[in-house]
Amino acid sequence: MTASERLRAAGRLGENVALGPLTSFRLGGPARYLVTIDAEQDLRDAFEIATREGLSVLPLGRGSNVVVADAGFPGMVLQAGSGLSHRSIGEATVAGAAVPLPLLARDAARAGRGGLEFYTGIPGSVGGAIRMNAGCHGSETSDVLISVRVFDLETSTVGDRPAADLDLAYRHSNLGDFDFVLEARFATVKRPVAEAERVIRDIARWRRQHQPGGTFNAGSVFKNPEGEAAGRIIDRLGLKGLESGAVRVSRRHANFFEAGEGATARDVRSLVLEVQRRVRDETGIDLEPEIRFVGDFS
Ligand SMILES: Cc1cc2nc3c(=O)[nH]c(=O)nc-3n(C[C@H](O)[C@H](O)[C@H](O)COP(=O)(O)OP(=O)(O)OC[C@H]3O[C@@H](n4cnc5c(N)ncnc54)[C@H](O)[C@@H]3O)c2cc1C
Repeated sequence: MTASERLRAAGRLGENVALGPLTSFRLGGPARYLVTIDAEQDLRDAFEIATREGLSVLPLGRGSNVVVADAGFPGMVLQAGSGLSHRSIGEATVAGAAVPLPLLARDAARAGRGGLEFYTGIPGSVGGAIRMNAGCHGSETSDVLISVRVFDLETSTVGDRPAADLDLAYRHSNLGDFDFVLEARFATVKRPVAEAERVIRDIARWRRQHQPGGTFNAGSVFKNPEGEAAGRIIDRLGLKGLESGAVRVSRRHANFFEAGEGATARDVRSLVLEVQRRVRDETGIDLEPEIRFVGDFS
């Protein structure tokens, strides 16, 4: 069997698949190919097809930090599937790339392990959290990560990388699109179940009070500049409610943009550029997007 036949037979290869439904913004066009990654072999097969057809590759998790262009992504999107949703909770907790972060937080808490509670506030996957060094409420991935198992799509090889080799910093790692995270090991501490669950409830309550729930968004649009909160800067300039097409700056939290009915990726892009321009003109601060634009926005 060829690589394509193997993936197709397993139902893991789709062509011209709409990406919008796979993202929290719920907008954007299709991927030329979407491959569901359940095992290392799927990545070897994907590597073979992408190399043969000269396609770019893009790992995708729960799509909670990306904006897919309206024209889509003309390459191969690789999304961790149920075969990578394993988790084993302990002092060293192992979780597959597809595991939703809030689920990992809850499972660990229930098993009397603490340290991962902050993940309850982040609606991404383990794979996305590593690449982004996701964090909130005073903790980030680099505080708890021991190592990751990565498949290298340039060489079709797999290996373990210690956290110290990932150059983790604020919403940054040195992982690129050729690095597909298969699983991660996290350090946890012993914590009474009731205490860990209380921390989770407190974080969930804080989020409900301060962030726009029930809307299509991708969390913080901009990184916080040194010593400042991007949301506070945008709010001070009176930009809450500013709109571009069907996307607007949230009235609840100025660093969240909400996509309404019929919103396009172009609307998101225009609003990002407009807010950046106004902030630069008024304050001299260059806001750097935290959300990732995927595909062609020219
Ligand atoms: C309501 C809301 C609140 C949020 N709050 C926070 C917050 O408090 N803190 C925070 O840090 N983020 C927050 N985010 C953003 C987002 O959830 C995080 O960045 C998360 O880590 C992204 O995970 P994901 O699986 O959705 O990744 P995606 O959005 O799918 O991808 C993000 C990046 O990771 C890469 N990637 C995904 N999977 C893999 C993989 N298996 N291997 C290698 N690379 C991969 C992608 O190529 C992309 O570059 C929030 C988002 C929303 C919608």
